[in-house]
Amino acid sequence: MAQAKTSTLLGMDREEFTALVSEAGEPSYRAKQIMEAVYRQRVESLAEISTLPLEFRERLDRDGVTVGAARIENKFVSSDGTVRYLIAFADGQSVETVWMPEGDGGEAGDGSEAGVEAESATSGAALSEKSSPIAALKRGAAQNRVGQGHASRARDNQDRAGQDQSVPANGESGKYPAGKSTRAFGRSTICISSQVGCAVDCQFCLTAVLGMKRNLTAAEIVAQVCAVLKDQQVSPPEDRINLVFMGMGEPFLNYENFVKAARLLVECVGIAERRMTVSTAGIVPRIRDFGGEVIRPKLAISLNASNDALRTRLMPLNKKWNLEMLIAAARDFPLRTREWITFEYVLLGRVNDEPENAREVAELLRGLRCKVNLIALNPGPGIDFETPGEERVAAFQKILRDAGIPAFVRRPRGRDIYAACGQLKRTVEGATSGGHLLRGISGAPEQ
Ligand code: SF4
Repeated sequence: MAQAKTSTLLGMDREEFTALVSEAGEPSYRAKQIMEAVYRQRVESLAEISTLPLEFRERLDRDGVTVGAARIENKFVSSDGTVRYLIAFADGQSVETVWMPEGDGGEAGDGSEAGVEAESATSGAALSEKSSPIAALKRGAAQNRVGQGHASRARDNQDRAGQDQSVPANGESGKYPAGKSTRAFGRSTICISSQVGCAVDCQFCLTAVLGMKRNLTAAEIVAQVCAVLKDQQVSPPEDRINLVFMGMGEPFLNYENFVKAARLLVECVGIAERRMTVSTAGIVPRIRDFGGEVIRPKLAISLNASNDALRTRLMPLNKKWNLEMLIAAARDFPLRTREWITFEYVLLGRVNDEPENAREVAELLRGLRCKVNLIALNPGPGIDFETPGEERVAAFQKILRDAGIPAFVRRPRGRDIYAACGQLKRTVEGATSGGHLLRGISGAPEQ
């Protein structure tokens, strides 16, 4: 048999499966069978692909073809139901992937409600996400769908995880059959990583401390999603799943693999394109390329500063692509009907959260079809900034809204397990918050 382009089935698209079975002299319908098994049933070994003849599976095995499923090495459950997974790949490298039940209320923000939220905001109907009647209606509906909301989901997760909040992987994730879910989810979100570590060096981000290890392949990006779907016993499109590329790494510095992964997630895994958002720190040439992609998730830009001097201090990549270039790319970005660009702004106490900063942001974004997500800094070891008080966050939001810019304060999710925005780093030492102990993970660098 001719060698497949990649030795893992995960990461192959329809054409590659077709080529694989054709070169093996198998009938063409086998391509669909393999695709179903890998992306929908989420098998972890060739042996599990029961629709294929044993002889064909053995031949694939002899040729060094594997499924390429990722392994859940560890998982941490937050008191708010958020689950932070440590997901390991064949070479021993690992990334973090976060599951947020009802995740749209979290700070990552899937962006899927941007149009409606923004409309309600500009019409003066809401000053905060909490007080938005539309958001409240949606939240109510979502909670009805998921039962008792966060508390029950947290308990549910804890029950499955046992008494311990930190659940070492023992292969048990495979005990949950994939396929049609028995539970319905309102607006769950998976936050996935695109690189092991990150080279961008944002000064407020724990991931930056890791430095850059390597890019993830498209297969590894998709494998995170498959592992979490399987562990949570959910399956799109039957279950509504939002996806955000906001975990470790800068997706636009791993552009080809990110684009292929997005296509596989839509075409093979069944996640709706409109439910996917990619966040970039501002890789301007790739923002322009991204606008022309056939399968194109929504765009979020990590802004975090209101002028070049401040942004260069907080995000050194601003030296290369400054605010003028970034905002120009955003203005040129081809938006669909009712689509908005999301700007994320991490508020650092007395650094970028002054009223003057808010007025500068309003000026920068004037006339752009956008919304702003305000995120009060999530604290972490080695991060030398302060979390601003609620009143400063509210004042910042009000200035933006008074200037006609829809602005929302994102609720932190999973802070106690370092799953919140900017906190993703393979955690070594224990940290307690709300009684939740984080266990050490071998191989991770010291904090
Ligand atoms: S915020 Fe994003 S781009 Fe910046 S260092 Fe962290 S992971 Fe990288």
